[in-house]
Amino acid sequence: MSTVLENALLPTYPPPPIGFVEGDGVWLTSADGRRYLDFAAGIAVVSLGHRHPAPLAAAHAQLDRLWHASNLFATEPAATLAQLLSDRFGGARAFFCNSGAEANEAALKFARKATGKAGVLALEGSFHGRTIGALAVTGQPAKRAAFEPLAAARFAKPNDVASLDAAAADDVGLVLLEPVLGEGGVIPLEPAFVARAAALAAELGALLAFDEVQTGVGRTGSFFAWEQLGVRPQLLTLAKALANGLPIGCLLVADDAPDAFAPGDHGSTFGGNPVSCAAAAAVCAAITDELLANVTKQGARLRAGLAALPGVVEVRGMGLLLGAVLDRPVQPVLDAALDAGLVGLGAGPDVLRLAPPLVVGAEEIDLALAILTEVMTG
Ligand code: PLP
Repeated sequence: MSTVLENALLPTYPPPPIGFVEGDGVWLTSADGRRYLDFAAGIAVVSLGHRHPAPLAAAHAQLDRLWHASNLFATEPAATLAQLLSDRFGGARAFFCNSGAEANEAALKFARKATGKAGVLALEGSFHGRTIGALAVTGQPAKRAAFEPLAAARFAKPNDVASLDAAAADDVGLVLLEPVLGEGGVIPLEPAFVARAAALAAELGALLAFDEVQTGVGRTGSFFAWEQLGVRPQLLTLAKALANGLPIGCLLVADDAPDAFAPGDHGSTFGGNPVSCAAAAAVCAAITDELLANVTKQGARLRAGLAALPGVVEVRGMGLLLGAVLDRPVQPVLDAALDAGLVGLGAGPDVLRLAPPLVVGAEEIDLALAILTEVMTG
């Protein structure tokens, strides 16, 4: 399978080390029948675990009714999902698309139209997606270099208020933050920094947006990470875990944000796809207080276990989005862990990122820690 993929796909990813054919809860099965503990969850996507019965049943039922009608017509799953997200947010309207990058593109366009200002203030090390607009506001020079010139954005250092203030300018119409910089090394933003960013956005006449593509839908122990930061943004983007693995993205615009979009301003043929939206509505219903309590509880267990591992310098993150800063490069650790049956993620050269399904239990956490102990001492 790997060789076929290598020959048939453009090489935007390194050659895959394994092919997976089946998933079940926190477990994946490879083509040769071996089982792997999945602490990557498809890059923080399969948050309810593989083949969770709720989105599975909802998607199946919708497949049997209606696959697609376009946004020229109303469909029930999109309306239901928009209402569920609005209720969780405390009053918002939704634009549905198909990915995190698209959701951020929608936020960029919305803010530009609402404020009339093209400038964006984002964070160094941030990641907002691979399209030209989302890349322009991604604070990682290595990802941008080959595609310059991109639109000018201003970048401040995470959790550095002086740097934030220094990056402020009158042309800024959007302040864009990830509550936890995921790809950039699992760096949680401090509440005081977020509060200053919100105040600055108000002073500049800019909108405040949180990119919750990775942190949203329960990953941090609350439905949205902002609930723990004390600042509700005007714009919020979601994708990854929203439909537990079916493609979907979403821009939420708070009811108290200024109006911007009118018919014809934005769109997406597949956005609001009934099957993805039906699965996502089932996901939202499955993010119960009990599940969120599990995220906090198992997150604390994983965090403590990681901190006790040899070679771990620091552990940071929120809930079940954790990064262990290592005293060595992460890739050989990931390779050895995979050989030993554990799927993990990197976030930069020396950060081991773990984002298991939110349904993970203590036994599986201990198993993952046992594998990592062996790998780190071996
Ligand atoms: N924003 C954040 C915070 C992300 O972590 C990602 C993907 O990793 C994206 C945006 C881009 O999402 P997508 O790959 O669905 O376009």
